[in-house]
Amino acid sequence: MRNTYQRLQILKLMENDKTHPSARQIYLRLKKKIPSVSFATVYNNLSKMAETGEILCLDAGLREKRYDPCVKPHGHFLCLKCFKVFDFSCSAKKPSIRNFKVFSYSVQAKGLCPACSEKGGKKWKQKK
Ligand SMILES: [Zn+2]
Ligand SMILES: [Zn+2]
Repeated sequence: MRNTYQRLQILKLMENDKTHPSARQIYLRLKKKIPSVSFATVYNNLSKMAETGEILCLDAGLREKRYDPCVKPHGHFLCLKCFKVFDFSCSAKKPSIRNFKVFSYSVQAKGLCPACSEKGGKKWKQKK
């Protein structure tokens, strides 16, 4: 029962969150609501929720795993400078592969976000 309650609180916290928070960020937010909650509990809940497909877990190329409450098909853009994750619309449907059960499917792009590429561009100009 307690686990279910914590799960619901985590889901509530993440609702409409487009920043793709890490487990630590979610833990710090949840701690304000439930001071007795431990990081391990949050982490375990997130892992289970990702396994059951309630949320998405992103880990490719990131220092920390990031979590996404939006499980509808969409692409992720990872900025290699500020490590922010941006959503982009992607019409790719979950592939159906004969005899395979597909639980998740993701499209990932990497590069520089507009803010970071602008900064980089300015530096480049200054050097010249
Ligand atoms: Zn960036
Ligand atoms: Zn996303």
